[in-house]
Amino acid sequence: MESKGRVFVVAGPSGAGKDTLIRKALQKVEDIHYSVSATTRPPREGEVEGRDYYFLSDDEFDRLATQGALLEWEEVFGRRYGTMKSEVEKATSSGKNILLELDVKGALNVRAKMKHALLVFIMPPSLEELESRLEKRRLDKEGDIKLRTDIAPGEMEIGRNSFDVVIVNDDADKATEKLASVLRGEKT
Ligand code: 5GP
Repeated sequence: MESKGRVFVVAGPSGAGKDTLIRKALQKVEDIHYSVSATTRPPREGEVEGRDYYFLSDDEFDRLATQGALLEWEEVFGRRYGTMKSEVEKATSSGKNILLELDVKGALNVRAKMKHALLVFIMPPSLEELESRLEKRRLDKEGDIKLRTDIAPGEMEIGRNSFDVVIVNDDADKATEKLASVLRGEKT
């Protein structure tokens, strides 16, 4: 699948602060479309249908997958998440760049399909810091936190070796500025 604008893929371990960084960076960048993914996970408090995700049942997700409406999809922590081709088309038809927020495997899959995609990895300052952030945010049950910290070292290794840009999120303001400048095309 081709896209006229630039394709940015942002990934990083759960708890690295991706969501906040992306939200803040997008406020500083023009002409970029945030790709809203489809997921079978239920909404968290404060999440809005069509803004944060398209929240789907398993059957609805299956239907999209069989119709070929997904550019990629992955199972992450027992739930399915997928990029809808229609989101990429929205960006293309309005001449905008697009930002996809994906897990690490999804990011590599997108690069295989869209060779010009720029992969940005959000790196936590350390594994200890990642664990403490996950505990503080209390979005996840204890077992889920372990699941997330267990896979983080492997994800960080892939980030270091295979991504185009690595942003260490030790200072939120500086990391936001770095991400914004990457999205503006100032740093690649
Ligand atoms: P969360 O449930 O915390 O919102 O997301 C869990 C993980 O799924 C995060 O790493 C997020 O980046 C990833 N994710 C969200 N949407 C997609 C998608 O469309 N495709 C893939 N492969 N991963 C996604």
